[in-house]
Amino acid sequence: MTGPAKPVVVDTVQAVRFQVAQARCLGRRIGCVPTMGALHEGHLSLIRAARQRCDYVVVTIFVNPTQFVAGEDLENYPRTRDADLAACASVGTDLVFAPSTAEMYDPDSLTTVRVHRITEPLCGRHRPGHFEGVTTVVTKLFNIVQPDAAYFGQKDAQQAVVLRKMTRDLNFPIEIVVCPTVREPDGLAMSSRNAYLSPEQRRQALSLHRALDGVRRAVAEGRRDAAGLLAEARQTIKSAGPCSIDYLEIVHPETLQPLTEVDQTALVAVAVRIDQARLIDNLLVDPSGPA
Ligand code: AMP
Repeated sequence: MTGPAKPVVVDTVQAVRFQVAQARCLGRRIGCVPTMGALHEGHLSLIRAARQRCDYVVVTIFVNPTQFVAGEDLENYPRTRDADLAACASVGTDLVFAPSTAEMYDPDSLTTVRVHRITEPLCGRHRPGHFEGVTTVVTKLFNIVQPDAAYFGQKDAQQAVVLRKMTRDLNFPIEIVVCPTVREPDGLAMSSRNAYLSPEQRRQALSLHRALDGVRRAVAEGRRDAAGLLAEARQTIKSAGPCSIDYLEIVHPETLQPLTEVDQTALVAVAVRIDQARLIDNLLVDPSGPA
C-alpha cells in the first residue's frame, strides 16, 4: 500500500503562486496551515482538519524573526526540516512553502500590520511587538497563498482571536478555522518549545494544565470568583517548582479583558517561564459545562 504522495516543496513566492494557481484552475478549495516547523501532533491535527475540508493543502514553514522579541529563542528555535517534510507527507500535504527570511522580507520594507487593543494584554504585554510580527507575516502568507481557509490552533488562543479580528477588519476572503489544543496523554499541551524541558521540568510543566483544569472543575462546581480561582491556580503552578509566571488570567474570550466573575464562557490563560522555556496554555471554561 502506498501512503499519500509527497508534497511539492518550494521556497519562493513565485513558485507558490504558480502551484496554487494551477490548483485553483482545477477548481480546488485551498487550505493553508501556517507553522514555524518542528512539527508535532498539534500541527498535524491542523493539516488533517485542512485535508478534510479542502482539496489542496498548503503548509508554510517559516521561523518568522519579526515575531521574536529581542533576547528570545530565535537562534535556538528547533529546526527539523527533514522530519517536518516527512510529517507533512504522512498526513497528505500538497504543497510546502519553506522560504528564507530574505524571500519573505525585503530589507527596504516599510509596512507592518497592527491589530490594536486585543494585542495589548496577556502575551502582548510580555512580548512587545510579537503580535505585529505575527499579523504582518500572516497577512503576507495570506496574500502569497490566497487560501480559501486557514487553520490555527486554540493553543495560541490570543493569536487566534487577533487573526480572526484582522481577517474581518481587513476583509480577507478567508475562513479562519481554530482547532482544539492537542495534548500529550498526561495533559501537557504539545509545543515545539517542550523540547527545551529537562525530564524534571517536563514533570513540572504539567502544573499548567493541572492549574487550568482545577479552575474548570471549580467553575463547574459553582465557583465564580475569578480572584480566588486564580490564587489557587497560581499556588498549583508555584508549588510545582521554580518558575516565573508571566500571566495567569481569566478573561473574556473575545475582548480578552479580565473578568471578575465567571458568569459566562471565559478564557483561562497562562504563560510560565521554566528556565529557558516559555510555555503557554489555556482552557475555555463554561459555567454551565460538565464537572
Ligand atoms: P507554531 O509552529 O508554534 O507557530 O504553531 C503553528 C500553528 O500550530 C499555530 O496555529 C498554533 O496555534 C498551532 N499549534 C501549536 N501547538 C498546538 C497544539 N498543541 N494543538 C493545536 N494546535 C497547535
